[in-house]
Amino acid sequence: MSISLADLRSFVNSELIPLEPTFLQDSFGAILPKLRTLRSEVQRRGWWLPPLPHDYGGQGMPLTEFAAISEELGRTPIGHYTFNCQAPDVGNMELLHMHGNAEQRSRWLRPLAAGEIRSCFAMTEPEHAGSNPVWLDTSAVKDGDDYVINGHKWFTTAADGAAFTIVMAVTNPDAQPHLRASQIIVPLDTPGFKLVRNIKIMGEAGEDWASHAEVRFDNCRVPQSNRIGGEGAGFALAQDRLGPGRIHHCMRWIGICERALELMCRHAASRELAPGTMLGSRQAVQHWIAESRANINAARFMVMDAAHKIEHKGAHAARIEISTIKYFVAGGLQQTLDRAIQAHGALGITDDTPLAWWYRHERGARIYDGADEVHKNVVARQELKKYGVHIRD
Ligand SMILES: Cc1cc2nc3c(=O)[nH]c(=O)nc-3n(C[C@H](O)[C@H](O)[C@H](O)COP(=O)(O)OP(=O)(O)OC[C@H]3O[C@@H](n4cnc5c(N)ncnc54)[C@H](O)[C@@H]3O)c2cc1C
Repeated sequence: MSISLADLRSFVNSELIPLEPTFLQDSFGAILPKLRTLRSEVQRRGWWLPPLPHDYGGQGMPLTEFAAISEELGRTPIGHYTFNCQAPDVGNMELLHMHGNAEQRSRWLRPLAAGEIRSCFAMTEPEHAGSNPVWLDTSAVKDGDDYVINGHKWFTTAADGAAFTIVMAVTNPDAQPHLRASQIIVPLDTPGFKLVRNIKIMGEAGEDWASHAEVRFDNCRVPQSNRIGGEGAGFALAQDRLGPGRIHHCMRWIGICERALELMCRHAASRELAPGTMLGSRQAVQHWIAESRANINAARFMVMDAAHKIEHKGAHAARIEISTIKYFVAGGLQQTLDRAIQAHGALGITDDTPLAWWYRHERGARIYDGADEVHKNVVARQELKKYGVHIRD
């Protein structure tokens, strides 16, 4: 591996974790100037953008190696951003790299990979269940050489300040459901694009990259050459993006769990319930620690197994493993954060540690990239098949 995990940990501990209090007490914008400097330092050290090829300034790292890096970066909410491998940009970069044409790569992928611009991905619509991704109203209608796009999306992560979005829009309404939509690049300065609001998540709207927007496309006109891949190929492209994307998320969540466990143990080892009686001497706390360690270790093996299978057999062959880790790791994350907060008492629900921020913002882990129940259905369907039960949606 070209990046030493020990060096990475030391960088996260010495450079990023000290920025957390300002991020948590103030805002993401307040630490952006410092993050820009650190991003240059990351580039200088040859750590930039681990999963993208060297041609694009990345480190060309295979999925299993990036998974280990992702865990280290996940120990702080600002780790992935500093290395330019944050969602949703990293998914958009991988998509443009795999499926973009030469012009799209040079106009959008290059500056994205260089960290000069940011991007977002607009698929989910407030009016329709995101769990049924083929049910979309947003349309892209041909007019001369252009598409004219109309639609309403929300939870468009990081739209605030982004240079462009990739929008999923219906281009072929009469085709089979999975062949109806296309992915199209829309620069956010296109007339008719509107960022309606940054949605408050558990009371906090966030800003810049750390936000989720409601957006509207009102007769947005873009050239047809902004379509990525073939017409009607939107869902096929989305599938390509989701397999590796779930490994990235799961390993980031394991990093969060490791940090939560570390904070829980430090607190258990220093908080006195009475003079000379440590919190950690109580069996309840010891069980939280032991259960969290078991969750984390099991999760890591399962995610690495899924990553290995994606690398060697492809995302389709690994679809059961991918679904299994999605709900298993998200559930373990929620439990581990909850235990760590409980162990901290009132301090746990303040923003004096990152636990409460993660508790608010990673509740969504059980919803985005497929809700728990959807992934459990996938796994159960395969298991039941072995017993002659064939379930259709
Ligand atoms: C933090 C966060 C970031 C996001 N970022 C983006 C983004 O950048 N771009 C984007 O396009 N979207 C994004 N999303 C949206 C996300 O993809 C959707 O929230 C997700 O697909 C679920 O859709 P929904 O919210 O409409 O819930 P629904 O589909 O309405 O489902 C509601 C609930 O019903 C249950 N359910 C659904 N289907 C089934 C089933 N088959 N069986 C049993 N129960 C079921 C589940 O419990 C689910 O939570 C984000 C969401 C979150 C929370």
